[in-house]
Amino acid sequence: MKIRLYLAILAGKMAIFFSRLAGNQGTNFPGRLARRIYPPILTELAGNILRETVIITGTNGKTTTSNMMAEIIKENNFSYVHNRAGANMITGITTAFIQATNLSGKREFDYGLLEVDEANVPLLLQEIPVKALLITNFFRDQLDRFGELDNTINIIKEAVQDTDIELILNADDPLVSHFQNQTGLNCWYFGFDDTVYDDIASAESREGRHCVFCGHELVYERFHYAQLGKYSCPQCQNQNPARDFSAHGLNLSPAISFQVNNLPIQSPYQGFYNAYNILAAVSLAKRMGFPDETIQTAISSYHPQAGRMEKFIINGKTVLLILVKNPTGLNQSLVALTQETANKNVFMALNDNAADGRDISWIWDADLEILANRQEDINYLICSGLRSGDIAVRAKYAGFDPARIVIKTRLQEGIARAVEGSNDTAYILSTYTALFTCRQILLKMQTKAKRQSNQSQYQRQSG
Ligand SMILES: [Zn+2]
Repeated sequence: MKIRLYLAILAGKMAIFFSRLAGNQGTNFPGRLARRIYPPILTELAGNILRETVIITGTNGKTTTSNMMAEIIKENNFSYVHNRAGANMITGITTAFIQATNLSGKREFDYGLLEVDEANVPLLLQEIPVKALLITNFFRDQLDRFGELDNTINIIKEAVQDTDIELILNADDPLVSHFQNQTGLNCWYFGFDDTVYDDIASAESREGRHCVFCGHELVYERFHYAQLGKYSCPQCQNQNPARDFSAHGLNLSPAISFQVNNLPIQSPYQGFYNAYNILAAVSLAKRMGFPDETIQTAISSYHPQAGRMEKFIINGKTVLLILVKNPTGLNQSLVALTQETANKNVFMALNDNAADGRDISWIWDADLEILANRQEDINYLICSGLRSGDIAVRAKYAGFDPARIVIKTRLQEGIARAVEGSNDTAYILSTYTALFTCRQILLKMQTKAKRQSNQSQYQRQSG
């Protein structure tokens, strides 16, 4: 009798229940508690996965990619365990398994689908048999947690060494694509063919500009975005590996469409970075053997989640809420919003709570210049959040007219300022810990505006 296992599950389930009751998401604590009562609990519960467990890691796009993958598995009527909403540490993953299982710990599932924080990959591989590991990309993110990006890459590479895990890798990322040579593992590559959105000379932050083998500076024929693109090393033979899942015919407007090999894919998402997330999910799904039609259906019906470009209508104005958390993500959002010629206000909330990353120096790696170069379309830049002053200084150094930089530290005041005035559109950019509050404020404003417009309509009709 594994009495400790049952006790751990029971305690974990109760902890989930009570933290929800208390209004917390309850993602890490239940897992931590259960692991203290019965340390091998995750290994035990993961043993109930009948087919295979796949994990998704990398700097950007883990959540979107794994959510899309979940849709594909669901579309095929398989059961699965999936850690949602960024609970991607080992304790959060344990919580997800506790939540999914029954009290005896014996409920079986077809698949395990896990989004894993980069630093937690080695731990997880020690506890769970993993069939495939997908790496989306490696960008500079949350410097204070990992120190150097190289360190992150090395611990993952060491963790997969001497395993038989299959790797699904981004062929366009020079920091990802060298895993094959150094691990000897079976690798599958996804990447984009030339697109009309490619850039040759851009000042965006580029982490992977040096060859990982010989250190020589890489030569890029084209950039898709950030360091993702077509590269080669003039000193050694290092270049993009051949793609197993090759995307071509990319169209980003009004929504994303492209072909993966011969499979047409459409999605209501926007932005090149999301095209990569979709390509990653499609590649993994094809590697796992899911039928093409189910992949197409799942991707086309999957809609953007809160914070990843959510749309609100307030007094006839379009207001878009976007989560930003690192230079690459911010640059990509700035490129997208400056491509719109509509007159706009741009709001940015910068917090430095633990979940945002305490070190905000990343805003100096981001290209606020993108915004400054198109400031004729921007009425006001509203700087908000705990570090509102820092973002204002950064914008000023980028060349943004100081007369049109407004500092409103309180989110409520800042958002109100962004939505009022003669602009057609407002963009609300926010780091992680301000996102929920921003969203609540926008929802409330939207509801209020709708109610007022209904009332005036009613008065007109009855008057
Ligand atoms: Zn080289």
